[in-house]
Formats: sequence, structure tokens, C-alpha cells
Amino acid sequence: MIIRLINYIKSIFTGSDKKDSMTNLILFGPPGSGKGTQAKNLMEKYNLLHISTGDLFRYEIGNNTPLGIKAKEYMNQGKLVPDEITIGMLENKINANPDVAGYLLDGFPRTIPQCEALDVFMKSKDQTITGLIALNVEDEELVKRLLKRGETSGRPDDSNEEVIRKRIAVYEEETSPVFGYYKEQNKSHTVDGVGSLEEIFTRLSTAIDSLL
Ligand code: ADP
Repeated sequence: MIIRLINYIKSIFTGSDKKDSMTNLILFGPPGSGKGTQAKNLMEKYNLLHISTGDLFRYEIGNNTPLGIKAKEYMNQGKLVPDEITIGMLENKINANPDVAGYLLDGFPRTIPQCEALDVFMKSKDQTITGLIALNVEDEELVKRLLKRGETSGRPDDSNEEVIRKRIAVYEEETSPVFGYYKEQNKSHTVDGVGSLEEIFTRLSTAIDSLL
């Protein structure tokens, strides 16, 4: 809060507009690492717009839109939805919500082309990514958590162990390089994703505060 106020006062003197002080965070980690759960609390604490590409796809699927019908094919097999579909959807969501203090991205970017597209898009809006925070959880714990979530979530991609393992493999191959992409810019941080929800929330908050 105080940091945001200082940034705001600074922006008055430097003549820069509100966008320079926006906080744009990427919440990163494998499927089942707890991004969605923690994002809900973080968005309240930091007053950010939570954008989950998985939730956006599920919304489209629920409404049986052409985008949803296309995305569903990939999601149910544990594969990534093609970049051009995902990037377009993310940009639409950001464009539709310009007057916010910042964005908390959950599930995006998930490939290097998505990182590159995000950089170009942010630049066009005179904004940057503030930082990436990764939740670290080992594979067997992820499988256990996702199978448990599948008992109640109604998500087809959570109820089949083969699909879960496929998602983890896809994460390792296609998504984990995203961490390195932002590490090169000194923006990547890791937090232990095992513990109580409160403990993990405190770790994430400490990491985020160090970026602000
Ligand atoms: P989880 O993190 O548990 O895998 P998500 O809700 O983030 O759950 O994603 C569910 C599925 O939606 C992914 O397996 C993938 O098929 C699709 N998806 C979500 N975000 C992206 C993305 N950025 N790029 C491509 N596909 C995505």
C-alpha cells in the first residue's frame, strides 16, 4: 500500500502516467501447484485483476463458443491450446480491462512464443512485467493433488491420471523454459509451494513485496 502511494507520488513529480506504476505479475508453476487458489487471495491483497487463461477457456467451453469448442479438444488431452488462440484471448481480456492497478496472470505465458507476444503487447501499452513467481511442488504431490481435485472439480482433465501426467510432461517440455526467459531479465523468483495455504500465501507475499 505504502509503496503504491510512494510510486503514485513519484509519478506526479516525474510526469509519468499511472501505467508506469502498474504491477503486472506472473504466477507460475506446474498444474496443481496452487496458482488458482493463491491467486484469489493475492488479487485481493494487491488489488490486481486476476486473469487465468484456463478459467477463460472453461468459460468459453461452458458457453459452447467456437473458441471453446476448439480449446476443449486440446485441454481434454492434456495438451496446450495453440498459441495464436491463447494470445488473442489474453489480449482481448487485457484490452477490455484497462483501468486496473495491474494484472495477475495465472497460466499465461506457457510457451516462449507466448512470452515474446506478451512482451510486445506490454510494450505497446507502455507497460512491463514486474516479475514472475514460481510455486515449486514435486511431481508425485502434483498428481495426488490433481486426482483429489478431480473428485469434485468436474474437470475432465483432472479425473484421468494419464492426462494429468501428460500435462506435467507438457509443463516440463514447453512451459518450464518460461522461467528462464524471465530469469534472463532478473525477474524470476521461486517459492516453496508445499505447506499450509497461509504459509504459502505469506511466502508469495514476501516475494511480491520484494518486487514492488
Ligand atoms: P492447470 O494449471 O491445473 O493445468 P489451467 O486451468 O491453468 O489448469 O489450464 C487448463 C488447460 O487449459 C491446460 O492444460 C491447457 O490445455 C489450457 N491452457 C491454459 N492456459 C494456457 C496457455 N497459456 N496456453 C495454452 N493452453 C493453455
